[in-house]
Amino acid sequence: MVEASVLPLEAPSPAHICPFDQACSYLEQAAKELQLDPGLLAVLSHPRKVVTVSVPVKLDSGEVQVLAGHRVQHSDILGPYKGGIRYHPAVTLREVSALAMLMTWKCALLGIPYGGAKGGIALDPTRYSIGELERITRRYTSELIKDIGPAVDIPAPDMGTSAREMAWIMDTYSVNVGHAVPGVVTGKPISIGGSRGREQATGRGVTIVVREALAARGQLLVGARIAIQGFGNVGSAAALLLHEAGAKIIAVSTGSGGIFSEKGLDILALKNYAAVNRKQISGFTPGESITNAELLTLPCDVLIPAALENQITEENAHQVQASIVAEAANAPVTLMAHKELEARGITVLPDILTNAGGVVVSYLEWVQGLSYLFWDEQRVNREMEALMVNAYQQVIEQSQKRQVPLRLAAYTLGVGRIAQALSDRGLYP
Ligand code: GLU
Repeated sequence: MVEASVLPLEAPSPAHICPFDQACSYLEQAAKELQLDPGLLAVLSHPRKVVTVSVPVKLDSGEVQVLAGHRVQHSDILGPYKGGIRYHPAVTLREVSALAMLMTWKCALLGIPYGGAKGGIALDPTRYSIGELERITRRYTSELIKDIGPAVDIPAPDMGTSAREMAWIMDTYSVNVGHAVPGVVTGKPISIGGSRGREQATGRGVTIVVREALAARGQLLVGARIAIQGFGNVGSAAALLLHEAGAKIIAVSTGSGGIFSEKGLDILALKNYAAVNRKQISGFTPGESITNAELLTLPCDVLIPAALENQITEENAHQVQASIVAEAANAPVTLMAHKELEARGITVLPDILTNAGGVVVSYLEWVQGLSYLFWDEQRVNREMEALMVNAYQQVIEQSQKRQVPLRLAAYTLGVGRIAQALSDRGLYP
């Protein structure tokens, strides 16, 4: 049975905010601010390579399904393509293309020698057995065997994937080339060359950026009221680390709704509750049930969307009551919503800075692997923090120098570095 056909870039539905169009709009804003040559802008608006493969899988029932697997390689101007692989029902080629572009700017902004890529398969991983997910991952890897590699394109976890999938990718790639190649992925288990601190890295990076942004307003993390949408790898790690730092996590949600507590939630107890309730948090006590929509409009110091794209839109931006919106997810605030928030004096900490902790520790994992020397977690966290704080300060300085919002400041830094490298390298032939 054919479940999903493999199509080139699908047409966006008119009601849907197209993530790729939005990513291009931000790029155009940055190009205008930088007075970039139109030829350079044209090059940067297109991914260098787009790969879509059929991923046939025999389910445990014996039925055969064919899924569409994508890998979009946006730029390798600065080094190997780099970016996660997403397993989620909403994955489309347009979304993956947008996320690949964000990876290029993110790596350039953080000053790490990678390009940008993203992969994805449109599937709901909770509906497949572990064996089925392994077969899907291995076949997807095998189809991409010539397109990935430690010097070419290095996948990592993203929504719906983890160290487990990275181990399957590493094994499939290694068996195919005939020797162990740990450097083909990052975010892999420590037993095969993964880095300490990688699992919590994105959440830790979010915590660092939020801490810096609060400090700039003369506020401490201790006692800050924070609402977090999403309790996956990023949301739950950020919640725990912020809670441990003394912040009051007043609300948390998952796709099926959330919980609120004026006094602050006990995040460790909530994590344990979610672990035994198939990642669900509804029913947790003490706490009141709230919807996802309500969470986004709670009065608080910091709102952290840590789930999917397009969560704060033209429809609800005017109801947001946070002082700071920290984009732990990629593109959770739409272009129009961003304008509204800025006009209302709400600081938006942009995704390419705020959620960069994951790829920074991926880079540190790569460095450790290349030098055959593995660090303790304190060293990993210290090196990551230095890179994050440095990038944060550069964004603030750029924002002040150019009198632009933080997102445009971050983009001008990331895009500017890529444009410089592109013009230095020149256009072949
Ligand atoms: N998926 C993560 C991101 O969007 C991490 C990518 C990586 O480590 O390569 O930044």
